[in-house]
Amino acid sequence: MQTPHKEHLYKLLVIGDLGVGKTSIIKRYVHQNFSSHYRATIGVDFALKVLHWDPETVVRLQLWDIAGQERFGNMTRVYYREAMGAFIVFDVTRPATFEAVAKWKNDLDSKLTLPNGKPVSVVLLANKCDQGKDVLVNNGLKMDQFCKEHGFVGWFETSAKENINIDEASRCLVKHILANE
Ligand code: GDP
Ligand code: MG
Repeated sequence: MQTPHKEHLYKLLVIGDLGVGKTSIIKRYVHQNFSSHYRATIGVDFALKVLHWDPETVVRLQLWDIAGQERFGNMTRVYYREAMGAFIVFDVTRPATFEAVAKWKNDLDSKLTLPNGKPVSVVLLANKCDQGKDVLVNNGLKMDQFCKEHGFVGWFETSAKENINIDEASRCLVKHILANE
């Protein structure tokens, strides 16, 4: 077996309102194919996912879950510190959680920039798409426009329940992070 030449460790944040499916997405993603472990700390959970990105590159993703503080609608700088990317999640069945997306993005951008001064890459997740499409997500052009305006690198309809698009969304985020380095 060829030894990988490049190893990356990326801290990724998973943020968004309470109940949108952040923990479920992480559990689905991490327990799917690769070895994983969870470590509960005060207020924050970590999960580790190892991606064999290409024959030369291993990417380790340290996914940071919020445990309860999301009800305040913002996080501390300490929590955001040294993150390389983020998923902002909303629940397609609850429009209020989409309205909170821009607020989460602003909170993140106001507290965190990459060492090179750029904003971190963020992918928007329209979760619970197994519950039926909402009007907003149905309008893909509107979503594309929203992402452009708010500086998301992309968006995906996801389902933690049915395992839809979670790997794809992660690949999109990692691709942008690698390109930014
Ligand atoms: P969090 O507060 O953002 O971490 O949300 P949770 O992961 O705890 O999920 C909140 C609720 O939504 C739980 O009852 C989950 O089972 C449910 N849920 C999460 N993701 C999905 C999904 O993709 N589809 C459906 N139908 N339910 C989901
Ligand atoms: Mg949770």
